[in-house]
Amino acid sequence: MNMTTTVEKPDNKETKVLIIEDEAQITRLIELELKYEGYEVVTATDGVEGLKSIREGEPDLVLLDCMLPNLSGEEVCQQVRDDSDNVPIIMITAKDSIEDRVKGLDFGADDYLVKPFATEELLARIRAVLRRKPKEQAGTLSYHDLWLDQFNRVARRGEEVLELRSKEFSLLRVFMMNPEKYLTREFLFNKVWGYDFIGESNVIEVYIRYLRSKLKEKTLGKLIHTKRGEGYMLRKPDLK
Ligand code: CA
Repeated sequence: MNMTTTVEKPDNKETKVLIIEDEAQITRLIELELKYEGYEVVTATDGVEGLKSIREGEPDLVLLDCMLPNLSGEEVCQQVRDDSDNVPIIMITAKDSIEDRVKGLDFGADDYLVKPFATEELLARIRAVLRRKPKEQAGTLSYHDLWLDQFNRVARRGEEVLELRSKEFSLLRVFMMNPEKYLTREFLFNKVWGYDFIGESNVIEVYIRYLRSKLKEKTLGKLIHTKRGEGYMLRKPDLK
């Protein structure tokens, strides 16, 4: 009779975790624990190398130290989100202050862990963040009745696929990444056209008009709201 109880380990083999950390000892420790749990692990020792590894290596999750040479953890996080990359990021830091936590989350991190931490805590956070962002949803955004696939560049309102031109798609994507927030013309211009804003240009107004028409606002309800001096906001029709 076999009396041993086996605890089934989750199958983490397909999950690639990138550790960006300049302290070799910490990296080594986390790496060993994660490999023991079955994760695939890659490492980077500074911000620049880490950012490159995120862009080229497409990890499933990033453990990002705040204090890094060349490019700080916050800067890495911000640039990743500017790339419209939704990869889950857990920031790791020695700084234990509310302000730093909030700052990290503002830059688009998914969670925060303060050094020193227990391995079990780290593993639990990793599982939680991965659960929240399942792989198959990577690259898609949704808000209200809008859905957008960033990789295949497909957008829908309800069941209907929207016939968007390239800039219209990019503009909608920026709104969907920043819902329920007023976005200035300058912000939108820099995100979509990518060069310095020309103050008198009415290109934003023109494209907002195109987008509104393609979103069928007249029949399906208003999504893009305007406020003089503040800019434009993506908001559900019934939300005040
Ligand atoms: Ca460090």
